[in-house]
Order: sequence, then structure tokens, then C-alpha cells
Amino acid sequence: MFNRLRTRLTLFILGGTIFSIILVSIISNITLFNKFDLYMKKEQKNRIKELTHLIKESYEPEVGWTIDSLENIATSSLIKNFDIVIRDNKGNVIFTHYVQNNMMRMHIEMMRKMGHSMMGMGRRRRSFLENGEYKSEVIELNKNGEIIGHVEIGYIGPFMVSEREIEFAKGINTSIIFSALISIIIAIGLGAYLSKIISKPIINITKASNDIRNGKLDTRISKLNNINELNELTNSINHLAASLEKQQRLRKRLTSDIAHELRTPLSILQSHIEAIIDGVWEPNIERMTIFKNEVDRLIKLVEQLKYLTDIENHKIELQIEEINLTKLLKEIVESFKVEFYNKQVSLESDIEKDVDIMADRDKIRQVMINIISNALKFTETGGRVNLKLRQDKKNIIIEIEDNGIGIPKEDLPFIFERLYRSEKSRNRKTGGAGIGLTIAKKLVEAHKGKIRVESQEKKGTKFIIILPISS
Ligand code: ADP
Repeated sequence: MFNRLRTRLTLFILGGTIFSIILVSIISNITLFNKFDLYMKKEQKNRIKELTHLIKESYEPEVGWTIDSLENIATSSLIKNFDIVIRDNKGNVIFTHYVQNNMMRMHIEMMRKMGHSMMGMGRRRRSFLENGEYKSEVIELNKNGEIIGHVEIGYIGPFMVSEREIEFAKGINTSIIFSALISIIIAIGLGAYLSKIISKPIINITKASNDIRNGKLDTRISKLNNINELNELTNSINHLAASLEKQQRLRKRLTSDIAHELRTPLSILQSHIEAIIDGVWEPNIERMTIFKNEVDRLIKLVEQLKYLTDIENHKIELQIEEINLTKLLKEIVESFKVEFYNKQVSLESDIEKDVDIMADRDKIRQVMINIISNALKFTETGGRVNLKLRQDKKNIIIEIEDNGIGIPKEDLPFIFERLYRSEKSRNRKTGGAGIGLTIAKKLVEAHKGKIRVESQEKKGTKFIIILPISS
């Protein structure tokens, strides 16, 4: 349960939200109380200053404080919450005012209530109430440079917190609690929604991977969301399935192709040998030559397969040397002249001068022979094959183009696979086993080059070989 992505995500978001709410409430309370503290201290100081000022102003020179002026002090709102004792310059008490005891208690009680409602404010609360101790101070009164008396001011202080101020602080914390509740509900909803959009595609991908593992290679995952990482994962799995499917198709085809390639010569041999054993046929030179040709075909096939495996296993090392490709290609064209003439196919060439390359002469020759002989094989009498050689700054480009039968579109992706022959060429009994192009591709790649094909059925085929100059 707790290991499920959905539960974890929801818990993480919830945890994060609760943590932020606690943090916000602590920080806002601390800030609020610090400001409050400062404000209160300043306020208290101002009140004492104003009160002292009032007492001094009530003093009339030569007359001193009169009943009227003391009455004025007694009715002023400034004396509220202060114990006041005014003494004249001889030390006689001329005015007293005491805050009633029950009022003090009420005040302290109010402050306690306020502190109690503060979230997480234990420490702060204590110091807030400690400030509620009784304090008194004696202030010298002087007017026109003459000491006129002293006033003793006592107060619970420094705070004189009004109910409005307590309500304000309470209000802040209530709104924090409310927003906390709303945020928690939103966090749960958000967590559930988020985990749905993340976990649903993951469940789909897991299901599809299991199907692929169980052999359903045509399984593909449809893109359900626009989260890049999940889309990339989906693409990778789809690619994996597609390439496994292709490999499986090729493997099946390869097995049936090998069987086919072996069956034809073997059944010819079998039927001929049976006919000789049954005495139907005389074992003469002609028949023996047929046997030999079939055996040769089998040996060639096995040798080609072995050669291919050797290239793949890096058992064949390249003999790299500087070769004049212009010269080599001209020689190859020359050597094909008779074959082309016999089939009445023209062989044209457009070979750039002085093209040199570091390569294995025999292997490059073999690539060219395989591709040119294919071009001849698959081009009808009267057709034409064109060989081009050119180079740019980085690469040497060889193109072999024919206007022969072309390759069906569906066969193009497989043309370089071993033993692959398009149905048409298979039916034509052209003789090859479908290994020539695979070998050519491996040899070009061994030179760090690339080979590709462009073809259109009934129009012709073009093979392009790109070899890096500094291979
Ligand atoms: P093969 O021994 O059959 O020629 P390759 O590997 O050389 O084997 O070629 C594989 C297949 O590619 C051929 O059987 C043929 O179907 C196709 N192919 C190759 N070259 C050409 C071409 N120039 N024109 C048409 N089809 C071609």
C-alpha cells in the first residue's frame, strides 16, 4: 500500500503542504509578535511622555497645581491604566490615582488568553506575560529650568493590550488554521490527480512490457499524456518491440531461406543419385558435372556464410594501404566489359581523377564486384549501368546506378540482411544466395563507411557508398 506510487505521491504532497503551513504560521506569529512588542513599547513610552507633559502643563508658575488643574489630570484619558503619585518640590503628595486591582487582574487574564490562542507560541507566550510585571518609575518634573516636583508612574508593563489587539492576533491564527484546512484538502486532491496522470501511463507501460516479454511483439503503447520523460519511455518500449518484431521476422525468414537454399541442390543430387541407383540413369561425365555444380553451390553458400560470420566476429583483418581508387575502379570496369557486352547492357562510368584512399584493396574490389554484378544481373538486355566516383572535403562517394527491375518498396529495408532476396529475384533463378549485399555492407562498415540504396520498381536502383577520406 505505502509502496504504491499513488500513496507515496499523495503523502509527499500532503507532508510538504503541512510542513509549509506550520512554517508559515510560526514565521507569521514570530513576525507579528516582534512588531507588536516594538509597537507596544513605543506606545507606552509615548503615553508616559504625554502624561508627564500634561502634568507639567497643569502647573502654573507661582500658583502651582490648582484643584482645577489636578481635576483636569484626573479626567484625562491619558491616566487610564497608570498608578500615578504626584509630589511637589517639597515632597508632599498632591495627587494620587490608582488603577483598581480587579482591572489589573482582568488585564493579565486577557493577555493570558491571547497568548494561549497562539499556535506554537509557547516560548513567546511566556515572555509576553513576563512583561506583564508591575513596574514603576519616578520622573523629575521641571518647568523653565526649575524643579517643580516628581511624578511616580506605575503600570503593568510595558503592555496595555486592548481587546481589539487580542482579536486581531486571534483572527490571524484563525485564518491560518482555515487556510491550512483548505490547503490540506487541495493537497490531497492534487496528489490524487498527479499520481493518476503519472501512475496510469506507468501501469500501461508495465502491462505492454509484460505482453512483449510474453511474445506479443506487435504490442504498441499509445501516447496518453504529454509528460516528456514518460513519452520517451513509451517511444523506447515501442522501438524495442518494433526491433524485436523485425528481428524475429528476419530470423524466421533466415531459417526458411537457409532451408530453401540447401533444399534445392540437395534434392537435385538426391533425385539424380536415386535414378542412378535404380539403374534408370547411367553415371556419365555430364551427370557427374551436374552433381559437382550443385556441390559447388553448396560449398560456396557455406563459405559465404562462414566469411560473413568471420567479418562479424572481426576475424578478417583489413590490410589498409594507400590505394588509387580511380585506377582500381577503372580496372574493375574493364574486367566487367565482356560480361556486360554478352548481356547487351551498357556500362558507363564517370570517374574523378586522382582519388586516393587508405583502404583494403581486395575488400573494396569485392564490394564493387558484388554491387556491379547485381546491377548487371537485375538489368534487362538493352539497359544501362552507370558508375560514378567523386570526392568532397571529407568523403569519397561511389554511386552505382542501373535502370533494371528495381527493388519493391517492402523489400528495401531488408535488402542488406543475409540471405534476403526479393521474391522476384528468387523466382528469376538468378543464382545468388542473397549474401553479396550483406558482405558488401559489412566491408564498407569495416572501413567506417556507409552504404545505402535508393530504388523504384521497374525504374532502377542506385547504391551509394560513402567512405571517409581519413579512415
Ligand atoms: P544475391 O546473391 O541474390 O544477388 P545480394 O545480397 O547481392 O544477393 O542481393 C540481395 C537481393 O537484393 C537480390 O536477391 C535482389 O533481390 C536485390 N538486389 C540487389 N541489387 C539489386 C539491383 N541492382 N536491382 C534490383 N534488385 C537488386
